[in-house]
Amino acid sequence: ALAERRYVAGNPRSERRFREAGAVLPGGNTRTSLYYAPFPVTFVAGEGQFLTDLDGHRYVDLLGEYSAGLYGHSDPRVLAAVRRVLDEGLSYGGPNNYEVELARTITERFSSVELLRFTNSGTEANLFAIGTARAVTGRSKVLVFESGYHGGVLSFRGEAPLNAPYPYLVCDYNDVPGTLAAIQRHRDDLAAVILEPMLGGGGAVPATAEFVRTIREATARHGVVLIVDEVMTSRLAPGGLQERLGVVPDLTTFGKYLGAGFSFGAFGGDRRLMERFDPSVPGSLSHPGTFNNNTVTMAAGLVGLREVFTPEAVGELNARGDRLRDRLNALFAEFGVAVQATGVGSILGLHFQRSPIVSGRDIDPAPDKRALLHIELMLRGFYIARRGYLALPLPVTDADLASFVDAVGDVVATHRRVLR
Ligand code: PLP
Repeated sequence: ALAERRYVAGNPRSERRFREAGAVLPGGNTRTSLYYAPFPVTFVAGEGQFLTDLDGHRYVDLLGEYSAGLYGHSDPRVLAAVRRVLDEGLSYGGPNNYEVELARTITERFSSVELLRFTNSGTEANLFAIGTARAVTGRSKVLVFESGYHGGVLSFRGEAPLNAPYPYLVCDYNDVPGTLAAIQRHRDDLAAVILEPMLGGGGAVPATAEFVRTIREATARHGVVLIVDEVMTSRLAPGGLQERLGVVPDLTTFGKYLGAGFSFGAFGGDRRLMERFDPSVPGSLSHPGTFNNNTVTMAAGLVGLREVFTPEAVGELNARGDRLRDRLNALFAEFGVAVQATGVGSILGLHFQRSPIVSGRDIDPAPDKRALLHIELMLRGFYIARRGYLALPLPVTDADLASFVDAVGDVVATHRRVLR
């Protein structure tokens, strides 16, 4: 309560902006995930790894735009590519050079992807991947996982009346026998299994290698299309988390950082499936979309993947994330508090329990504790998601992370009794 009072007192301009926003945006908001009580701050500038809000506070940005802000706020190579595109003219209404190069670079990086198509968001990529599986197999059902998140209309945590109206089967994440039984029982009408190799929005919960391997074998055996949603996780190894897990999906979906900060999505994979989108063939599948090949995204994404997020940079950033996770967990143990850091590489989840987390159902929602940590960290100049989610951007330094660990230590020491 004290922390919240200080937060409110310190952010009068953001509070006023939030009230004004409520007159035209429901709840003052146009991205549900960005809302938190009592009101989110409004940002006015980003530079490198820093964000500045309306009341002049500067934060180290450890949310990294929910993983899409991987390159930070002002990478000079990305900005130069965008400036060039602005000079070349916008929206041609025809093919351009950048889309070919970006597609080629993605297929070289992610070995299961032979052909791909661009979209404007990860949600759209997943809708098209599921649609492809249904069209190609002639089957209807889609197997998903509890707490899985594949977009605003493909969300499997709690009630979701806006979900795309497919017949879903919902299994528990990392439940090997349950998932195997469901695939076998529904094999004649199962079009696709869609899997995040780590639950992202569901709490940064990694899949076990056995779980992924079992799903791959069972789907292959029964002609079910395996879609691996790497919208969030493709940054976790040079060839995506699928490379680390040794799984070759039929289709993969992408999004977030691959657009270098601009609207982006893509779906692709096995040539035999993706060839169905060849418009010169009668009866092909249709995938239009005005901004699918918009030059700003294509050019920025291309330079990002070729020059900024090199395989070496992937390795270094994820090693840094692993070290941060270890240091946080050591700190929680040292203070004897029931807090743990989960995740893989540069993506971390913070949870308020000692018990192990292998599926979304294991997670204690602990909304008061999440709010406390979030507000206390904002007061100390660190921006993370209210739900306890971090996605380290490339420009964050070891010194930033050392100060972050100190700040977390300070919060934990102050609230030791509550967090025990
Ligand atoms: N899939 C995963 C795993 C995601 O984390 C997200 C976004 O958070 C999406 C899909 C949806 O992507 P978008 O927000 O670009 O529609």
